[in-house]
Amino acid sequence: MPINEVIIVRRCGHCRYEMGTLTVKKDNMRLMTRELAWCENCEADVPEVRDIADREPTVLAEQASYPGNPPMEDVSAAEFRQRKAAARDA
Ligand SMILES: [Zn+2]
Repeated sequence: MPINEVIIVRRCGHCRYEMGTLTVKKDNMRLMTRELAWCENCEADVPEVRDIADREPTVLAEQASYPGNPPMEDVSAAEFRQRKAAARDA
């Protein structure tokens, strides 16, 4: 992946359910959005939050240290989906 692109994880603003990922240019990066998105978990239109899914630990550590930024589960998007599928099947 080119260095000027970042993966954004879209999450439910209520329950942090992962709704998908986006790959965007850093120049165009918008972490704030006013658009509502459908959350399967809440079964409602919810405010969307976006996190940078950067693999660099330093970036994650920086994010974690931001005040008001809730701790994020340290799992990859793929693993998150696996867990989600497992939970659904249970
Ligand atoms: Zn939700």
